[in-house]
This record gives sequence, C-alpha cells and structure tokens, in this order.
Amino acid sequence: MIDEYHGIAPKGDLLLIHKLGEKFNGRSFLHINSTRQGGGVAEILQRMIPLLRDIGINTRWEVLKGDSRFYDITKKIHNALQGNPEKITDDMWDYHYEINRKNSEELDLEADTVLIHDPQPLPLIKFRKNGNWIWRCHIDLSNPEIGVCERMLKYCANYESAIFSMPNFARAMKISEFIIPPSIDPLSEKNRELSDVEIRETLEKFDIPPDRPIILQVSRFDRFKDPVGVIKAYRMVKKYNDCILILAGSPATDDPEGETVLNEVREFAENDPDIYILLLPPFSDRDINALQRAATVVLQKSLKEGFGLTVSEAMWKGKPVIGGATGGIPLQIAHRFTGFLVRTPEGAAFRTRQFLNNPVMLKRMGENGREYVRNNFLITRQVRDYLSVWYAIENKDDTVFEI
Ligand code: UDP
Repeated sequence: MIDEYHGIAPKGDLLLIHKLGEKFNGRSFLHINSTRQGGGVAEILQRMIPLLRDIGINTRWEVLKGDSRFYDITKKIHNALQGNPEKITDDMWDYHYEINRKNSEELDLEADTVLIHDPQPLPLIKFRKNGNWIWRCHIDLSNPEIGVCERMLKYCANYESAIFSMPNFARAMKISEFIIPPSIDPLSEKNRELSDVEIRETLEKFDIPPDRPIILQVSRFDRFKDPVGVIKAYRMVKKYNDCILILAGSPATDDPEGETVLNEVREFAENDPDIYILLLPPFSDRDINALQRAATVVLQKSLKEGFGLTVSEAMWKGKPVIGGATGGIPLQIAHRFTGFLVRTPEGAAFRTRQFLNNPVMLKRMGENGREYVRNNFLITRQVRDYLSVWYAIENKDDTVFEI
C-alpha cells in the first residue's frame, strides 16, 4: 500500500516512513476523535489508519459517542476557540467531562501512543492507562476566547505533548509542542485521477452545464466558511463574466448548525438558477473530486479555518485557489504563485475575474499549486511527521524535532 506512493510522494518521506515503520513494528497507536464522517479530521483518519497498519503498526481508531447536547456544547467550545464570543457555563464543562468519563468506560484506551484529536475527547486524558498521550489540535487557536482556551489548556497540561497545524496556533504551554500541517491522500477516491467520462457523469447527475465557467466552493455549511460571501463575490463577477456557482457541502455528524446555515444560504441565493447548492450525502468523494476537476476557479473564502483541506485538494487537481487569508490557508496558497489570498467578497470577485479572463495564468498557477502540494501536503508527509513525534517523545534527549 505504501509502495503505491512511489513516483507520487517525495522519496525522502517514503524512506523515513519505512525506517520509522521498522522501529515501531508491532507497537500500538490509537487515534480518538468525535466523528467517523464529515470534516477534515475524519477525512484524514479514514486514509491514514490503513496506511499505518500497512507499515506494521497496530493502529486503531475510536470515536467518542456523544448526544446532541454534547455536540452543541463542543460546537460552542470550537467556536470560542476560533474567536467567537461564547459563554461556556460550569454546567456545560461538567457535561463535556461527564460524556468523556462515560466513554472512557467503553473505549479501550490501552496503546503505546494515543493521539486525541480536537477538544471533544480532550478530557479522556483523565482516564489514561498507559502510553504517550498527545493532543492533536486541528483548529485555529490564533485568537481564542481566553477563558475557554485556558480551561482547555488545563487538560492539555496532562499530555506529553501537543501538535498544532501552524506555528501561530500554538499556545505557551509547559509540554512540548510540534507543528504538523494536515494533508491529503492523492490515491483516495477524493483525489485520484478521474476520466473525462467520470467527470461528465457527475455533472449530468446534478444537471450542471459542462460548457460554462464554474466557480466552486466545497465546504460544510458553516458561517466560518462564508458561503454568503461567496455568493456576493459571484454576483459581482456575474455582472461582467458568464459563470455558474456551485456550493457543495454535506452535514458533519458533530456539527449541529449545518441546517440553519444551509437555510440562510438558500435564502440568500434567491432561487438564482445559476447557483447550484448541492447537499451531498456523506462519502460523496467521487462527486467532489469530479466537481473540483470540472471547476474553472475554486474558492475557499473562509473567515476562520483550521487548515482547509479543500484548498490542497483543489490544488492537487491543478486548480489555483482563491482563499481567505486566514488560518491554514496562507500555508497552502503562496499569494500570486499558487493562488490568491483575499479578505473580502470584492477581493474574491476581482481575483476570480482575473482567472476567468486569463487562462494562461490560471494554468500556470494551477501547475505550481500541484507541485507545492506534492512537496508539502501529501499524507505520506503527515505519517512521517506523526511517527517522528512519537520517536522524539520516546527519545527525549533527541530534541531535534521540538520547537
Ligand atoms: N467534504 C466532503 N463533503 C462535503 C464537504 C466537504 O467530503 O460536502 C470534505 C472536503 O473535501 C474535505 C473535508 O471534507 O476533505 C473538509 O475539510 P476542511 O479542512 O476543508 O474543513 P473542515 O470541515 O474540517 O472545517
């Protein structure tokens, strides 16, 4: 399986994975998050778990079970950590802890290394049995509600170390911290090469005209993804250029706000026949792949973003992306080289028109983007990094990986 990445992923990454795989052969690695589908974390785990097993590491993936009250609370915590003013009461914190306690009775927490993803399962550390526990934070912690953040960091203090996607998300803590950006899998159904026939099938399925320029944003229906801002940008473009807009998204099981935001977006779109709001069922990977390949211009106009896997996904398909200058997006978009960073609907509209009017520049920046993703954001690099952190934790004298 890992061999299938030869010729696609950088050689050095594959070599290091091979070496670290030998080192950790037969050892156990447990990942815990709060949803098996929807959103970037589940997306990566679905692909990474089999890869880790393939190199001989005994890897498991457990999912925390919560109820709607729990997800409402954790969504509020998530929003507060990304800077929204939210009040998390003591009762809510207690419930967050209580659901984790209940889960700890059912989950098998024994492993040599345990990677806890995001705040939902963070309190599980209180029920640690053995092993190295690492908190993997995928969200944008650059400007959080301080009270909420401090409460989270109290749990963190009990971990061996924490991993953030970007340097400016890291917080001052007494434990060691590492920077590991997320990644995409070039061989998954979401990213593999597709034939023209496969792309056409998707367009036909959604009645999308194949011969008009397509502006696309793929995202959960979440205000931080600014779907309304995307529609505003499209309307400005539309005054001068023919185009259609596709907003494709599906609900995540741990995101209770999706439906409300979807309704807001539908209302704002005012039945414009050239706006396609596609509510995709879970695991629509082939369709998303096809839409990204069919698109002329891809937007990810987020206002806050942990990383934004959709950016690398589109870049891997040779599409330059116009992205919000926030969170992990600037890590992927080198402004004017692999795409454009924008701050407003006006900026997004201006850059979209530049692409629509200049196919040569569009192609060149798309090619740059693909190579940039190859060297920085493929899943092999992330497997390499996780195993390197594990190695660093168990060989504490060797501080070479620490920041
Ligand atoms: N995604 C999907 N279906 C959708 C919308 C998004 O499969 O309808 C995928 C998308 O292709 C990407 C992931 O979900 O792989 C979203 O990750 P990202 O980091 O962009 O955002 P998050 O949802 O984690 O905030």
